[in-house]
Amino acid sequence: MSTASPTREAELIASVPHDLLIGGRWQPAASGATVAVEDPATGATLCEVADGDATDALAALAAAHEAQAAWAATPSRARGEILRAAFEAMTARADELALLMTLEMGKPVAESKGEITYAAEFLRWFSEEAVRITGEYRPAPAGGSRILTVRQPVGPCLLITPWNFPTAMVTRKVAPALAAGCTVVLKPSELTPLSALALAQILTDAGLPDGVLNVVVTTQAGATTEPLIADPRLRKISFTGSTAVGRHLIELSGPQVLRVSMELGGNAPFVVFDDADLDAAVEGAMLAKLRNGGEACTSANRFYVQRAVAEPFAARLAERMAAMKVGRGTNGVDVGPLINARQRGKVVDLVDDAVARGATALTGGTAGDGPGYFFAPTVLADVAPGSRLVAEEIFGPVAPVLTFDDEAEAVAAANDTEYGLIAYVYTRDLERALRVAEALQTGMVGVNQGVISNAAAPFGGVKQSGYGREGGREGIDEYLEVKYLSIAAGWH
Ligand code: NAD
Repeated sequence: MSTASPTREAELIASVPHDLLIGGRWQPAASGATVAVEDPATGATLCEVADGDATDALAALAAAHEAQAAWAATPSRARGEILRAAFEAMTARADELALLMTLEMGKPVAESKGEITYAAEFLRWFSEEAVRITGEYRPAPAGGSRILTVRQPVGPCLLITPWNFPTAMVTRKVAPALAAGCTVVLKPSELTPLSALALAQILTDAGLPDGVLNVVVTTQAGATTEPLIADPRLRKISFTGSTAVGRHLIELSGPQVLRVSMELGGNAPFVVFDDADLDAAVEGAMLAKLRNGGEACTSANRFYVQRAVAEPFAARLAERMAAMKVGRGTNGVDVGPLINARQRGKVVDLVDDAVARGATALTGGTAGDGPGYFFAPTVLADVAPGSRLVAEEIFGPVAPVLTFDDEAEAVAAANDTEYGLIAYVYTRDLERALRVAEALQTGMVGVNQGVISNAAAPFGGVKQSGYGREGGREGIDEYLEVKYLSIAAGWH
């Protein structure tokens, strides 16, 4: 059953800005270029949006730079109230924003709605954090002076976001940046620009002054952002995306010594001990694997299951995965299409490689035929440890199951990756849960839980999954500098 008629879809798309937002004005790209936005369920073009380049990006940075001083001087309560108003507007319009997201990104509408709620939470959370940007007053231990600290905005920020969570990855950066008093040039993914443009309109309507948030969509990400990264008016980059691009941006940020936050790729292990509640583990596995169709940095990429329960776990997971309805995200399905042909091709290659090395598909294993980039939810048993999908991000609905015998082996296997974003552990033994969680080399651990994202918690990775934290009390620190004032205290 479809949640929307073609007319409603077309009206919704038409209601969203299709231009760049620069200095408070919606405008076409200086070059006049546009880029097609595609429906990944059909391959059809939904609309065209402005395709900016370096000229537009530099104009956006100039606007952000010009707006910086006044925005930093705006009382934090006023900044917070704009974010709060945007939270209310997003919440009121959650259904249409969810449909819009599904049209350009593919995930089922119910999941898109979950993302809108999650995304809006960052606006609410940081509206509350804005007024808690405090400092300290302390006596110098040796006497003679007082130590005063104030926290000030870093300055204009370049925020680069991926397509897989088209709204939440934006609010997770934009909300703390604005709350801290920073101005922004946002470069969302060109694959999912409509969600970002709709959000920018909401923030503008909520009262954001001109130039505080600028949005540049582009198909030439490198050529468009490099001049900004080399420009002394920019003070920070926050990036969410692949480790390869993140590493490149870290290098580019060197000459200007920019503040940098990196939310990069993941290769999450999902470890099930033989004392685990198997029903809960299978339920958690479904969430950790199929949320976002597997296209999440937090997606469980490798299932390590203790030998005694490996077979029943894999069989039950396969049964649940086989029952998933796959189709266009507007049609009441459980799993939508992958984002594009390239991503589907990668998933096909990874599954073929695992099967060639001896894995068996308990369910799925094949791409859909016909239009749209579908791939069947898949469980692979007897996966050889050297298979490519054990080392690489799958980014699709594929669950490889491997076995282990003891705790030390499980921890070693889980840590045997350059990534370190998140891990999941299922056990009823509290001591073991804590011991393993502490030994895992990741920024986050889900204990008996398959989804842990929360606007109030610090999200982020270690190793090549990046640095910096988004959300929680920590999230705003990424956009603040600490200034220390030494005050002579002559009475000592
Ligand atoms: P990607 O690295 O290809 O692109 C991310 C963004 O960077 C896009 O906006 C893209 O246009 C831009 N970009 C690409 N090349 C660039 C360049 N040379 N200079 C500047 N910008 C450039 O990643 P993707 O395919 O869009 O997203 C998937 C990746 O994102 C996965 O690796 C996933 O794990 C990661 N991710 C991480 C998190 C996290 O919080 N750690 C969250 C979501 C996604």
